[in-house]
Amino acid sequence: MRFCVRCGQEFPRDQLIQGYCINCFIRYIGLFEHKPVLEITICPKCHSWLFKGEWLTPTSINDVVKNVSLNELSKTIRRGLQLVDLDFISIVQGIGELRARLRLHVKTETATFTTVEEVPGRIRYKVCPRCISKGSGRYTHLVQIRFTRRNPPRTLLENLERLLEKLLLQSEIVNVRYSESGVDLELDDATLAKRIVQMVTREYSAKFTTSFKATRFDHRKGSWRGILTYSIRIPVFERGDVVIYKGDLYIVEDLKKNRVVLFNPSSRVREEVLLSVYWTGELKSPSRVEVERYLVIDVREDEIIAVSESTKSQLVYRKKQNTPQIKVGDTVLLIKADNIETIVVGAETGLLR
Ligand SMILES: [Zn+2]
Ligand SMILES: [Zn+2]
Repeated sequence: MRFCVRCGQEFPRDQLIQGYCINCFIRYIGLFEHKPVLEITICPKCHSWLFKGEWLTPTSINDVVKNVSLNELSKTIRRGLQLVDLDFISIVQGIGELRARLRLHVKTETATFTTVEEVPGRIRYKVCPRCISKGSGRYTHLVQIRFTRRNPPRTLLENLERLLEKLLLQSEIVNVRYSESGVDLELDDATLAKRIVQMVTREYSAKFTTSFKATRFDHRKGSWRGILTYSIRIPVFERGDVVIYKGDLYIVEDLKKNRVVLFNPSSRVREEVLLSVYWTGELKSPSRVEVERYLVIDVREDEIIAVSESTKSQLVYRKKQNTPQIKVGDTVLLIKADNIETIVVGAETGLLR
């Protein structure tokens, strides 16, 4: 028997790796020389996949992940260890990304053990040479999906990817590119392009514009050929956002499909508003929001006195009929958004992000 240099527990000698017990080795040294990342490339037209420079016939994503993992993990596993086999447990797919849970069967010089690892990966869509030679690989329609906010929430991106996934099974898609800022779809089918645009627009209360870039003149048809671009923008709001609706300041309390539930801190009224009013200008994201926290130091019959936590300046809030119960020590927020000011008292102070 020997002791693990890390946890001090006793183990048979052949169960130790470089002095560590298997648990401590995995935890403190790690199985890999550097963290592996799975790079998965799939042809969006025929679903064949790229493996060691070769395009293989389509199979399930589980199989693709398993094979790519076995290859990639064997390369990055530490010297002295050998990856015998692995089982696919599950996979979580995000936008152009994935996380695979795998059960690894590992051999050391003296022992074998099993462990579960989560490995991140990326999925790229690239037209395979076979499909390129079949079609021209050229696209006539470009659908660009973007957001009204630089960093849209992950759930929205994932939701969008699931929606597109169904359409990506269509063979007319030439290329798909995912990025932080959105998705680009290159297509050679006008009907499919229109369907995608309609679907995304309807689903997310999005708006689109079109533009045409001529590339060459078709003499036979007597018209210009080129690329028609649809630029779609999806309005993004999140819970706790300060917004301006019909000139008044509101806080986003909830999000529903195509709707937002807004809370007005001054009138204490809730309103459910269609997301599409973003496009009429009725619902806006202010360009600048400042929030100052005040601590309630006195509650009188008709007013509340609070002191700013940062500047120590005093705030006197005249109670209204619907002002919630408040006590000394509670927090009051003063929100300034663009040129509008409002005070939030009561439980709704917790709404803000
Ligand atoms: Zn140990
Ligand atoms: Zn292909």
